[in-house]
Amino acid sequence: MANTANETKFFADVCKNFDSAAQFTAHPEGLLTQIKACNSVYRFQFPIRRGNGFEVIDAWRVEHSQHMNPTKGGIRYSDMVNEDEVMALAALMTYKCAIVNVPFGGAKGGICINPKNYTIGELENITRRYTTELIKKNFIGPGIDVPAPDYGTGEREMSWIADTYMTMNPGQLDALGCVTGKPIALHGIRGRKEATGRGVAYAVRECVTVAEDMAKIGLKAGLGDKRVIVQGLGNVGYHAAKFLAEFGATIVGLCEFEGAIYNANGLNIDEVFAHRKLTGSILGFPGATEFKNSMEGLEQPCDILVPAALENQITVENIRNIKAKIIAEGANGPCTPEAEEVFTEMGGIIIPDMYCNAGGVTVSYFEWLKNLSHVAFGRMENRYAENSNANLINTLESLTGKKIPAENRLMIVKGASELELVNSGLEDT
Ligand code: GLU
Repeated sequence: MANTANETKFFADVCKNFDSAAQFTAHPEGLLTQIKACNSVYRFQFPIRRGNGFEVIDAWRVEHSQHMNPTKGGIRYSDMVNEDEVMALAALMTYKCAIVNVPFGGAKGGICINPKNYTIGELENITRRYTTELIKKNFIGPGIDVPAPDYGTGEREMSWIADTYMTMNPGQLDALGCVTGKPIALHGIRGRKEATGRGVAYAVRECVTVAEDMAKIGLKAGLGDKRVIVQGLGNVGYHAAKFLAEFGATIVGLCEFEGAIYNANGLNIDEVFAHRKLTGSILGFPGATEFKNSMEGLEQPCDILVPAALENQITVENIRNIKAKIIAEGANGPCTPEAEEVFTEMGGIIIPDMYCNAGGVTVSYFEWLKNLSHVAFGRMENRYAENSNANLINTLESLTGKKIPAENRLMIVKGASELELVNSGLEDT
C-alpha cells in the first residue's frame, strides 16, 4: 500500500524555504498563506490487469497554483511516490516557473509503481488509464494542466499521454499541447531531453564565474580546475555531467543507487554509462575506487557536488561530511532546509533547485508554444526573412527604377542590412 498520510515532510520543507524568503517581502500574511497552499490535490486509484488478477494503482495529480494557466510539471513513476512528495514537487514547480518567468502555475503528478517491475505493455496500460482519469476530472489539457517527464518517465510515456488525450478529444486543434517532453517525431522539440542537465551545467558555470565570490570560498574562478561529483545517472545527472565536462570540469565521482565510483583523474561519463548498460551497474568500472554504499560517494573530495537524483539526500546526518564547496541542486529538494543552514554556516554555496534545474520547464514552454502555434521552429523565420528580402528588393527597384544585380540580391537574402543593400546594390547599377 502506498504512503498516503503525511509520512514525509517534503512539502513542509518547501514551505519552510518559502517562509525564509518571504520574510524579506512586505506581503500580508494571508496572501503568503494562499501562495503556499496547494489549490487542488487529486488522489485516485485504478485497477490494471496483471497475470491472472488485478492490481490497484495509487496515483496523484496536484495543481499547486492556478495563478497562471495552464499549470505545468512532470509525472513521476516511483514506489516512493506519496501525496506529500507530489504536493512538494508541485509547489516547487510554481516557484520555478516564476523564477524563470514562464507563464505557468505549478503542478506535479505521481504514480506509485517501480517501473522496472512492469512490462512495457503494463506501463502503457497504466499511463493511458492515468491519462483517462485526468481527462475525466479536467486535470489535463493545453490550457488546463500540461504534464512532462520526471523521475521514471520519459518520451515514451509522454507519447502515450498525447495519444490518449488526442484520441479522447477528437478535432481539438491544440491537443498536442497537452503534454511536453514528447519525441521529435511526435511534435516534441529539439533539446528538451538535454535541457534540464544543460541548465544545471549553465547554472554552475555562472556561479563559478565571479572571482570575488569564489575567493570567499577558497576557489578560483572558472570550471577548468573544478572536480565534480554527480549523484544520479538519469536524464538530469547524465546531461549535467556531460555538459560540465564539456565546459572543462573534471567528473571525479558518480553515484547511483547500486553504489558509487571515484577517480581523482576523472571519469568519462559515456564510458561509465556504457559500462552500466552492459553490466547493470556502475560498480566494476575500470580504474575507479568503488563504494557499495552509494552515500559514501557524495562525501569524497571534490569542489562541486551535483545531487541529481531524488529529494532528501543531504541532511544534517551527512552534510558535515560533504567536502564540496558548492552544491548544485539538479534534483528537486535534494538538501533539507536544516542541511542547507549547516552548509551555509560551513561557508558553502547552494545553487537552489528551483533555479538550478529550471532548464527543463523553460524548454517545455517552447515545445508548448510550438504545438499551439502549429509552426515548426525555423520555418516562420526563414519565410519571413525571404519574404521581407524579396519585398525590400521590389520596393527598392521600383522606387529607384534600377535593377539590383544578382550577386547583391544573394547578399540581401543572406541577411545584409538595409543600409548595405542601398549602398552596394544601387550604386553599382
Ligand atoms: N520534471 C520537470 C521539472 O521538475 C518537468 C518540467 C516540465 O517540463 O514541465 O522541472
